[in-house]
Amino acid sequence: MALYLTYRPQTFNAVVGQTHIVRTLQNALKDNRIGHAYLFTGPRGTGKTSIARILAKAANCLAPVVTETGFEPCDQCHSCTSIARGSAMDIVEIDAASNTGVDNIRDLREKISFRPTELRYKVYIIDEVHMLSKGAFNALLKTLEEPPDHAIFILATTEPYEVPATIVSRCQRYDFRFLQHREIVEQLQKIAESEHTALEDTAADFIAQLSHGALRDALSLLEQIMSYQRGTITRDDIKTALGILDQSQISSFFALLGAGKTGEAILAVHRLAGQGQDMGQFIKSCIEYGRQVLLSQLSGKAYLDLLNISAEDKQAIQEDKKLMDSAKLLAFMKNLLEVKNQLRKSDNPLVPVELALLQSFQETARNVAVSASPAAAVSTPAQDPAQPQEDTQQPVPFSAPGKKESSFAEKIKRKHAEAETVPDAPSAHTVKEETIIQKWNQILDAAKPHNHSVAAFLKGGTPRTIDPEGRLVIEFQYSFHKEQIEKRLNKSIVEDAIFEVCGQRVPITCLLVAKAGKPTAPAAQKSLPGAGNTADPKQTSDESPGISVDDALKMFGGKVV
Ligand SMILES: [Zn+2]
Repeated sequence: MALYLTYRPQTFNAVVGQTHIVRTLQNALKDNRIGHAYLFTGPRGTGKTSIARILAKAANCLAPVVTETGFEPCDQCHSCTSIARGSAMDIVEIDAASNTGVDNIRDLREKISFRPTELRYKVYIIDEVHMLSKGAFNALLKTLEEPPDHAIFILATTEPYEVPATIVSRCQRYDFRFLQHREIVEQLQKIAESEHTALEDTAADFIAQLSHGALRDALSLLEQIMSYQRGTITRDDIKTALGILDQSQISSFFALLGAGKTGEAILAVHRLAGQGQDMGQFIKSCIEYGRQVLLSQLSGKAYLDLLNISAEDKQAIQEDKKLMDSAKLLAFMKNLLEVKNQLRKSDNPLVPVELALLQSFQETARNVAVSASPAAAVSTPAQDPAQPQEDTQQPVPFSAPGKKESSFAEKIKRKHAEAETVPDAPSAHTVKEETIIQKWNQILDAAKPHNHSVAAFLKGGTPRTIDPEGRLVIEFQYSFHKEQIEKRLNKSIVEDAIFEVCGQRVPITCLLVAKAGKPTAPAAQKSLPGAGNTADPKQTSDESPGISVDDALKMFGGKVV
């Protein structure tokens, strides 16, 4: 069994961190003030479902242990043991992210009025509740408006802003936090000891650093390393097991890029790949390092003081700050984040990495030309009306004359054109609306493996035309379908599917149309060439072509500075 399941806390006392939540819940249980609806929000891997289960146990325990400061389930009575085993009929766990989520809510509505079969309370734990459909939310809302005395709802989500306000307002809300570095280190040491494994302090530190405050991630990493190395685990063992490069290696890679030696940087990547370096891990290391350099550029020493890294590594970051200006670095980071998502789908992991390198440094040349100085590009989003919208997201033509490294880019492009033939795409930059419309069924099929429901929602739409901004206009008759596809993540699944089938990334925009206007034959579809012009301008207003400190913060979740 996975470590995080084996060591899942069974009592409030065993929970790591989240003391503000544990204490409040214990006090409520002691005073017999059990709420009927709870909303647990916070990052993944921070204990939401674990605490939900302990709460379910504590509320149902036949012999709770009540002390001056606490309230604990006994963990021995019939209720506690059946809940811990997962065999209690009255505890229902629903994963809203799964396809059965809607059915489960309907089922819940029907059965909620029946009394629990064996426990005191029926407890419904709905994980990833933000994924419920509008219909399911409405059904849930009706239940929450008049909850029966014997029911407790615990809704958990990583995205509280996607939960309707009407639901949130009926719940007691608890915000879970990232765990502190020290809390994760202590738990790692405790578990390593139980597993008869010696974990060096610097190694525990390193795992905690890699897990970014999510205990579940830390335990998964520990497990991965333990399967590779028995006995004593050192920091170097972790690097080897996970394919993590030394900071000095990443730093010299950044130095090449900073000096404009893109070609040499690409060769360095090839050498690493030749040595068996995992590209996914390489990209992760680059993102982490680039982020540290960027944030120390923006906030100086104060930021470095927050990092749990060695003095030499801090010194190196200080020096690397001068290697690359923020605008260049930010453009590169954005592309790296893209690459991270593309890697899984690429047959040759080197291709997306190479393209990111070329794209970043060509884009930078153009961005610098647009703004007077790199510093200006960082402090204010570019407002130049001459610059087309979504500029940074459009493919950069490799053959653009006069661009730095263009001859090298040509070579790379030719090399990959020989190695990989993109199906039915004679030129990657001329995909036409007819092609997309013809291949729409293939695109639907391509989206399916990534997310079944996205493919289903997409079926509710019809591709119409490519608007003057180069976006594919998809018309929907139902706003629900349109809203689902407009979610950032879903949008990118659709764009990836178009890329897979047509060999080019075409941004999409969604449009709501009245039912009567729907042409039935593909031939009629061309009769609406201007459909894109009527698109709501608000739909793309959140996509800024420039780069700013705000962008940087958004990219990192805005939690560091
Ligand atoms: Zn009990």
